[in-house]
Amino acid sequence: MNTQHQHGQKNCPVCLSSTTAHYIDYENSRLYRCNDCQSVYVSPYVTHGQVTELYNASIERASHELKTRLHKKMRRARSRAKRLKRYAKGNRFLDVGSNVGFMVEAARENGFLAHGIEVDPNYVKISQENFPRNTFTHGMIEDFPIPQDGFDVVYCSEVIEHVPNVRPFAEALARQVCAGGLLYITTPDITHWRTPRDIARWDAFCPPSHCVYFTPQSMQNMFAQYGLVLKKKFIAFKPGMKMIFQRPQST
Ligand SMILES: [Zn+2]
Repeated sequence: MNTQHQHGQKNCPVCLSSTTAHYIDYENSRLYRCNDCQSVYVSPYVTHGQVTELYNASIERASHELKTRLHKKMRRARSRAKRLKRYAKGNRFLDVGSNVGFMVEAARENGFLAHGIEVDPNYVKISQENFPRNTFTHGMIEDFPIPQDGFDVVYCSEVIEHVPNVRPFAEALARQVCAGGLLYITTPDITHWRTPRDIARWDAFCPPSHCVYFTPQSMQNMFAQYGLVLKKKFIAFKPGMKMIFQRPQST
């Protein structure tokens, strides 16, 4: 085993603590829990190349994804966009992990200047074809240029749990948020009161695809290090967290 693997096992990807303990072996994945922040994570990580491979759906699958429950997904996206419009000070909107583009389209309908970034090239293609009034970029947020002013709303829903190297990702999200701007983030919550005690029975438990399981506090602590403060935590009836962070005006 090389040192990279040993490093991965030792350190929590969320808070970098080396005080971690074996949590569970599940199928081919080994998971650890951080004693400091209580996050649970897969280690050793899959590599960057393997991640890109994981997110390269066929065009048929991308098209199918768009059509499946589109009406329901659009309705939820519209209600979220409408809610975010009330909190936002400006109209620049970035969806990180924009999938087939329905959230970007819903944001545009609600008066945002909407932009999506997505690692899967076929999802980007489908997005551009179906929602041509928006801008979609293929790539990773870590490589996205640092904007002059930033976005008023950065939206990232059910994406961060898929990212093995989570701190550079979180930092990249945070640097897109303008002064006074917002980050809306959702992810499974491993400490939620409705998360099953037998973790294997939890529908959000699917390592290695989901490779990091946060607690609301570990999420809050991580983004604090990148200059964002918690503005609002929504009540979630499913075992997930929905949070809005803000970059203070003064920084
Ligand atoms: Zn930790």
